[in-house]
Amino acid sequence: MKLLIMGRPGAGKGTQAVNIKEYYKIPHISTGDMFRAAIKNETKLGLLAKSYMDKGGLVPDEVTIGIVEERLLEDDCKNGFLLDGFPRTINQAIALDSFLTKNGVKLDAVLDVNVKPEILVRRMVGRRVCKTCGATFHVEFNAPKVEGICDNCGSQLIQRADDTEATAKNRLEVYDNNTAPLLEYYKKQNILKTVDGDQPLDKVFDDIKAVLGA
Ligand code: ADP
Ligand code: AMP
Repeated sequence: MKLLIMGRPGAGKGTQAVNIKEYYKIPHISTGDMFRAAIKNETKLGLLAKSYMDKGGLVPDEVTIGIVEERLLEDDCKNGFLLDGFPRTINQAIALDSFLTKNGVKLDAVLDVNVKPEILVRRMVGRRVCKTCGATFHVEFNAPKVEGICDNCGSQLIQRADDTEATAKNRLEVYDNNTAPLLEYYKKQNILKTVDGDQPLDKVFDDIKAVLGA
């Protein structure tokens, strides 16, 4: 399976990516996670990415396209992959298409996890992530068994620096201006599959399996 997962910030892409990765046995490639790892490691890329991420803006295309292409050339992507949070601009989508064509690869599907914007600020502000294993929870909608502690590994849960109300609102606007047009782009390629992301987590995953036909 060669897949993209799209959707507004907070729609549940990362949450569903964990299920998809396990079920289809494919690597989960999240540009947001890659940038956060670079920030944690205090690399040059991290420093650059942070200056855009803190405001909810987009990291420049040249940088983002480069790291994704490099990642897709790794061995574990030969039999499939799930790209999450990339592409986010038309330029990124065009670059991805030409990279895939050059490497003889075709996308099987582009999943759009559709959630109305109204609820998404609440989803982002309430999001908590494990600082060790990266598992995602929500203080109201997907609470851990013990407040502030990861169910999977027992580490501390933290709030992402960009999950403040003001930044979340900005990210939704950035999505509308830069990323939403990609839905039409993939619809024209006949590979867009939309699922309703405003349902319980398990139900969203059932719908994903159904639209993927497996
Ligand atoms: P994205 O990767 O699209 O930004 P996440 O997967 O991190 O979104 O989800 C954002 C927040 O919403 C998280 O706190 C997550 O636990 C919660 N969430 C995800 N899917 C659902 C859902 N179907 N219903 C309620 N809350 C959800
Ligand atoms: P995410 O984890 O997908 O919510 O992404 C967090 C932030 O990382 C975004 O708000 C952007 O600042 C940055 N980012 C992630 N993916 C991309 C991308 N494809 N293009 C540009 N910036 C990105």
